[in-house]
Amino acid sequence: MLGVDRRWGDAVSAAAEALVTESETEARIAVELIGKTGMSHSERIKDALHRAGYADLVREQEKKTLEETRKAFDRGPDWKERFRHWSETETIFLETIAAVAPSAPLGIRERRGLDELVDFYYTLGVPESYGGEADWLAHELPEALCLYVESVAALSDFDLPKLAAEAAFVLERSDEDTSSLLYIPGKSREMADWSQITDPERMRDGLISLLKTVRFVAHTVAWSLLQAPAGLEVADAVRMNLPKAGSWRRQLAVLVVLDALPIQDALAQAGTWSKDPDPFTRSAVAHYAAVLVGTKWEDDELLIRTLEDHDGEVRDEALIRLKEKPLGAVLGTAVESAAEEPFPDWTCLQCATPNSGEQHSCGECKTVGPELKRHVGELLAG
Ligand SMILES: [Zn+2]
Repeated sequence: MLGVDRRWGDAVSAAAEALVTESETEARIAVELIGKTGMSHSERIKDALHRAGYADLVREQEKKTLEETRKAFDRGPDWKERFRHWSETETIFLETIAAVAPSAPLGIRERRGLDELVDFYYTLGVPESYGGEADWLAHELPEALCLYVESVAALSDFDLPKLAAEAAFVLERSDEDTSSLLYIPGKSREMADWSQITDPERMRDGLISLLKTVRFVAHTVAWSLLQAPAGLEVADAVRMNLPKAGSWRRQLAVLVVLDALPIQDALAQAGTWSKDPDPFTRSAVAHYAAVLVGTKWEDDELLIRTLEDHDGEVRDEALIRLKEKPLGAVLGTAVESAAEEPFPDWTCLQCATPNSGEQHSCGECKTVGPELKRHVGELLAG
């Protein structure tokens, strides 16, 4: 499993954890990230802040969030509308889950626990998803939601009749506060048991189509595709059905192909893709080449091409993935040059808008761009 992150939120919380230790200014930036990602990742950021002695900053932030929520509710219909939309989303999710199998009768203890259902939510990745993604999936892509729920159910070791019964039980009590389901800590289970699948080709193609949906689904599915038996030729199947250029979906799918190919074939393919006009494709190559450093497959020529890329985000991807890798003299020099001014132009990872090298954040969506100087500094210091 070389490249693909299981959970997007890991990246956000790891970045925040790294910020915490630097200075109070950095800790304040990390505080702002609380609540911008899923529950457990927010908890991880809070823990890091507590450990570093910034408990007062966390308390301040929690007070601020509470006030903002109260103000938003006071402003009225917009927030209430969104809350209603979310309740509908939850109902759609529960109905889909309740349909995965005929229900088994539930004992009293199970009604109190709802263990299968809570873990299923975590395995789907709902609690860690970006705001709005679960809504989008439920309301705009109902067939994809159905396929996703069925695939997760088939590939993981859930007790399906019990899972269906728990979902039905919550639905029956939908007049009560069921959305609190998301606040019960659960754990994600492996979605990798291909041995029970009756039509593996169909499952593979279904998962590949889900790579083109939303992030939390695509990341879970990518991981699962990499666990598929070799005979399924996942690399070829994904390569023949790549998401279109110019989005994170393409980057993720390219990484799946590289990870799934035998390594020599992957290196040859990465060489071709390192000259692709699409920065997201090249960014996946940067990721892949950086992860290979320190292994016997290290390919400095490939990696250096990405560190010299004319798109700053491609360079930054290589730098980020080089963290804690041993850098020899040649790579050290290439890393150092990656942050030389003038900074290269860059393509926003979030919305694909091209930005000039002088811009710190995206002119369209304000997402922060590459931080070449900071990342090079960290690599050369460590
Ligand atoms: Zn943008």
